Amino acid sequence: MQRPDGTTFMDFDYYNTLREKFLQILYDGLPDKSYIRTGCNVQSITQHADSVDVTLADGSVETGDMILGVDGVSSLTRTSMWDHADKVSPGLITQKDKTCMKTSYRGLIGIGPQIPNLRKDVLITTFDEKLTFLTLTQKEQVFWLVLFRLPETMVWPQRGRWTEKDAEEQAAKIASHPLTKECKFEDLWNTRERGALVPMEEGLLDRWYHDRIVLAGDAAHKVTPNLALGGNSAMESVVVLCNLLQKMVAGQENARPSLETLTKAFAAYQNERHGRMKVIVDLSARATRMEAWDHMLDKFVTTRVMPYIPHHFLVKQLGRIITPAPKLDYVSLEGFARGKTPWKYDDGVEC
Ligand SMILES: Cc1cc2nc3c(=O)[nH]c(=O)nc-3n(C[C@H](O)[C@H](O)[C@H](O)COP(=O)(O)OP(=O)(O)OC[C@H]3O[C@@H](n4cnc5c(N)ncnc54)[C@H](O)[C@@H]3O)c2cc1C
Repeated sequence: MQRPDGTTFMDFDYYNTLREKFLQILYDGLPDKSYIRTGCNVQSITQHADSVDVTLADGSVETGDMILGVDGVSSLTRTSMWDHADKVSPGLITQKDKTCMKTSYRGLIGIGPQIPNLRKDVLITTFDEKLTFLTLTQKEQVFWLVLFRLPETMVWPQRGRWTEKDAEEQAAKIASHPLTKECKFEDLWNTRERGALVPMEEGLLDRWYHDRIVLAGDAAHKVTPNLALGGNSAMESVVVLCNLLQKMVAGQENARPSLETLTKAFAAYQNERHGRMKVIVDLSARATRMEAWDHMLDKFVTTRVMPYIPHHFLVKQLGRIITPAPKLDYVSLEGFARGKTPWKYDDGVEC
């Protein structure tokens, strides 16, 4: 962690991996890839009494019992769920839910090659007034993100959209800002492979399902990126839902689920996940504000208190949030690697 002048006050080792790589590993492990279709966007969703249709961009239609929408913060599935609920259960989806995604920060994000003078495999956080630099380094690549407080918070459906020129202008304003003693922001910007200015929405829906549609990931719970818990949370939600669906299918001997059975499973899923996501959304929001010195007290804590906290204490605190993450109940843990900090599962198993 760095002060605005680039000097270090706390140091962490950090493991990070590119999501393309992670997705490839998951994909390669699939026993049957024929279910996966890429390059054909979902264009619309139609619910029927006993099924749901998805129309794809190539005109084909897929029919199923339910839809799990993990299609990001601008989720078409969520819009479709809201439209359908407004027709058949007016008032069920509240205005609070429809405006819960808010944007108080925007981020200049980018990726480029590793540059000289930057340590490898670390997360460098450089604090400043209403501004935070997060630089994640790997052996050959650097991923970076600069968070800026917006003058006014945008409320969904209002979203920030910025052009390449906006990104250039924003980058020019911080070009000479140090990231470390040896490196300035312009060193990353000038060698970037990609760079863009994007909104950093945050919000948590109260209602994650209706009829045959259920949501997970950023579509239902969107966090700011400072604690890097958004992707994890998306996976956790899918794990919990899969556990419940697996039990449901096993309980009815593989017969097609009725709407009532699905609703029970979806409600149990939301019930199990909402509390944990509230904690994670709030904690990420606090971390974002603290790291960007939103308030005088945040500056005081990061500059006068944090340097004296042993870093293993902070790591332990983050570990306390991560270790109770759910696992797939129907997958054996045999051969699963044991880490320095064990996972703590509901069934009392430590791994
Ligand atoms: C700068 C930044 C850094 C981050 N770093 C981390 C990190 O280090 N660790 C971490 O855990 N999280 C991180 N996150 C958060 C993480 O990226 C998200 O929380 C996570 O990707 C959410 O997954 P998702 O599947 O819900 O949404 P997305 O990742 O947005 O995926 C949605 C997918 O749905 C597809 N889609 C959308 N609409 C349609 C449609 N109509 N038809 C077909 N497909 C569609 C999209 O193409 C996309 O592939 C970061 C976020 C940001 C912005």
